[in-house]
Amino acid sequence: MYKVFISEEKIKERVIELGKEISDQYHGEQVVVVVLLRGSFMFAADLVRAIDGDVIVDFMVVSSYQGMETSGEVRIYKDLAENIHDRHVLIVEDIVDTGLTLTKILEVLKSRNPKSLETCSLLSKPSRRIKEVAIKYVGFTIEDKFVIGYGLDLDQKYRQLPYIAEMTH
Ligand code: 5GP
Repeated sequence: MYKVFISEEKIKERVIELGKEISDQYHGEQVVVVVLLRGSFMFAADLVRAIDGDVIVDFMVVSSYQGMETSGEVRIYKDLAENIHDRHVLIVEDIVDTGLTLTKILEVLKSRNPKSLETCSLLSKPSRRIKEVAIKYVGFTIEDKFVIGYGLDLDQKYRQLPYIAEMTH
């Protein structure tokens, strides 16, 4: 069972605000929005519509694989189609939990020498961090709870919910 945690209206409002902040930052310069699939597909779809500017959308499929090591490993199943060398890049993530996934993606993309590299995450659970990672744009900071919906899954289910929900048991 689950219950609404962040409503559709609240998400909409916040996404508009984030879109404005992002539009202001790039002042019309082109930005490659890197959507980390699958979790951020819905957020990214709304976010890019809220950005007023020159936006290119590209996708990566990564999966974090956390064994015993705290360094974590990230496997890239699908890489970018775009060459990001000397371009502005904005990574769009659904949720930053331990920070391991985003840290690794940042390392990978940084090595390709973008002009700038920033991060945007719909949700952040700072109390769970193993790796401190700078997130430039955060939608909502939440406590340590497992959330689903608006792209986020539980065993691949619930991604289609238009709001963010928390599991009740
Ligand atoms: P991190 O590497 O920061 O620990 O993990 C990030 C990934 O873990 C997210 O992209 C997401 O796939 C998954 N994750 C972390 N917390 C949650 C959560 O509360 N709900 C869901 N559905 N996935 C989560």
